[in-house]
Amino acid sequence: MKTTAILSDDTSLLGKIIERGGVVVFPTETVYGIGASSLDFEACRRIYKIKNRPSDNPLIAHFANIEQILEFCIVSDESLLLFKTFSPGPLTLVLEKKSDSIFPPDRKTIAVRIPSHNLARELIRASGVPISAPSANLSGKPSFTRRKDVIECFQNLVDGILLAEDPEIGIESTVVDMTKDVPVLLRPGKISQEDLLKVLPHLVLPEAGLQGSENKIRSEESIPESPGMKYRHYSPEAEVVLLEKKMFGESLSHYRKKDFGKSALSDKKAGFIGFGFLPVHSWDRVLSSNEDYMKELYSFFVDADHLGLDICYCEIPKDDPAKQALINRLEKAKNK
Ligand code: AMP
Ligand code: MG
Repeated sequence: MKTTAILSDDTSLLGKIIERGGVVVFPTETVYGIGASSLDFEACRRIYKIKNRPSDNPLIAHFANIEQILEFCIVSDESLLLFKTFSPGPLTLVLEKKSDSIFPPDRKTIAVRIPSHNLARELIRASGVPISAPSANLSGKPSFTRRKDVIECFQNLVDGILLAEDPEIGIESTVVDMTKDVPVLLRPGKISQEDLLKVLPHLVLPEAGLQGSENKIRSEESIPESPGMKYRHYSPEAEVVLLEKKMFGESLSHYRKKDFGKSALSDKKAGFIGFGFLPVHSWDRVLSSNEDYMKELYSFFVDADHLGLDICYCEIPKDDPAKQALINRLEKAKNK
């Protein structure tokens, strides 16, 4: 069925659409989400169809506040401390469900988050229910961070699109599983491992768990399933090439000189994203920080698809706490 979405900044109107079983695209501070009432399993299943999302990859439920989370989930003192420290914000916790009335019906656990984007929270409040929402993109493709991209992709697929400020972070939330004996970092994000370790000194990092290292934990037992991790993500059609500064500069000068015909690379249509360089193309992205990198990366990939680029040269991120999340997204974009 073809639907034409209501495009509006009216959270009451769009909240009603969610409450009545509709699907609404909305911005959060991380990326755009495509959401439905967490209490309406049919509506949640429609999201999977629209995105072509594998059915075993569960959705994150978005809440307006901690009180609303407490209605549906078991929240330990440690999880409460995490929420108090980092929420509202880009932190998702996997918790045990208290109730079977919330999506996903086939799991005892649920991933939950309180977004800091004001209108996203207003939408949740207006709908009166938690909103289950994965990133608003077609499965496997880069997440959207600009209004024009979600309108183009979703206006004939969903019931509403919330017109509000674009995401300011640009990559998906940090995910921590709190349902095991020790907390485990499932997906790095803007809230870094360093930030988390200040509150959770016994946090298990994926690498440590997989190596079964000092934490004396064997991998099969300790690393909980994070279904989304096994799927290809965030990939443009173009080949993604990650380069250290020097090689990035060399590739740039090759294209700057239009040295076509002299190497295997030469006649590929390329784009560059990196730090403080002189751009060759109008679509190249010049960054000043890793935060900039987070904000620009997905729209760079989306533009690469529109432009039909063959190759995206991406400079290795700077050495700071934000590097881990960026490398995670870049590596996934590379693996086809
Ligand atoms: P996204 O599709 O970008 O919204 O990402 C959601 C991420 O959270 C995916 O990697 C999911 O696999 C993960 N996730 C959601 N619910 C759960 C859960 N109950 N247990 C473990 N991981 C989850
Ligand atoms: Mg996603």
